[in-house]
Amino acid sequence: MVTSIYTDCAHCGATFTQPDDPGRKRRFCSGACRTGAYRARKRRQEQADRDRQRQDQRRRYDGLRAKAASTTYEHEAAACNAKANQLRDKYGL
Ligand SMILES: [Zn+2]
Repeated sequence: MVTSIYTDCAHCGATFTQPDDPGRKRRFCSGACRTGAYRARKRRQEQADRDRQRQDQRRRYDGLRAKAASTTYEHEAAACNAKANQLRDKYGL
């Protein structure tokens, strides 16, 4: 006889039963929860990517400003500031 095991859905937390056979165990109570968990994971991933991108833009911008401030070459300073202004306008920094 096949016994059942109780599992808490990894998305909504509802307890559901499934057969305690040697197969791979279900983690979600329904297809909707499986899809919902996938979408939530994707959303978090995309948000993390955006945050990282934003930090990279900021780092590059600050680097250009620092370079412009520290160089003794007028043309280099102007070029760095021009590039920094370009990044500021493009990314709204
Ligand atoms: Zn669920």
